[in-house]
Amino acid sequence: MTAEIVTLHQVAVEAPPAFSAAINADLLQKIRMAPVPVLFLNAPDGADWAGYCGSHDQTENGEVVLDSKLVETCLRKPNSQHIVEVYLHESAHRLMPGHWHNAAFFCMNFVLHLRAGKLKRPVWHGIKFYDIQDEIDFESPGRFFQLMRWAWLLAVELAETEETAEECATLIHQKYQEFCEWLDAADEREEAATQRRTAAVQHLRNIESDLADARADRLLHFVFGGVAGLLVATFFLWG
Ligand SMILES: [Zn+2]
Repeated sequence: MTAEIVTLHQVAVEAPPAFSAAINADLLQKIRMAPVPVLFLNAPDGADWAGYCGSHDQTENGEVVLDSKLVETCLRKPNSQHIVEVYLHESAHRLMPGHWHNAAFFCMNFVLHLRAGKLKRPVWHGIKFYDIQDEIDFESPGRFFQLMRWAWLLAVELAETEETAEECATLIHQKYQEFCEWLDAADEREEAATQRRTAAVQHLRNIESDLADARADRLLHFVFGGVAGLLVATFFLWG
């Protein structure tokens, strides 16, 4: 029995019109990013992805994958806002390999969305907690809040610069490492601060104790002096 094996390979095709209309030269100029190639695949029914970004060494040209249904007229006309959001999200993955959905990825993704400006609504409305899910810790949200704040402020700053998206990615990667090291040392800083506060409180208590002792001594001297004076007076009066 001979098995018929289906074989496939990638072939460059003309971009679907809905894709060209959404991801155009104007957008690429605004986000200052070299075009990331796209491979269109038909996501199986029930698939929970609209796009994905495989590791670079498993691609032919560093392409990201988008679901063909994004750009085809199915029940509804293609949604350009959604196409842009998915393309920017997957391109941010391509720019930030190894960061998955951490704060560095969130920052890069946010930069692209901010730079993209407004279509039907501001493109940054497509930013979600999903994009920073790796940092979320419901038991101990303090670190998450700090990372979110860091990523937010850096993204807003970088979005206004002339740096290319690729230069932003390098910068974000470096700053993320530095910020994580700073956060990791936070426990040591907190422990040192606690020790300083404890020592300061103990020092104050010692001072208060010394003052109380001094007041007690003065009171004793006063009482003793009074009694002695009374005895002397009594001696002269009755002597
Ligand atoms: Zn993703």
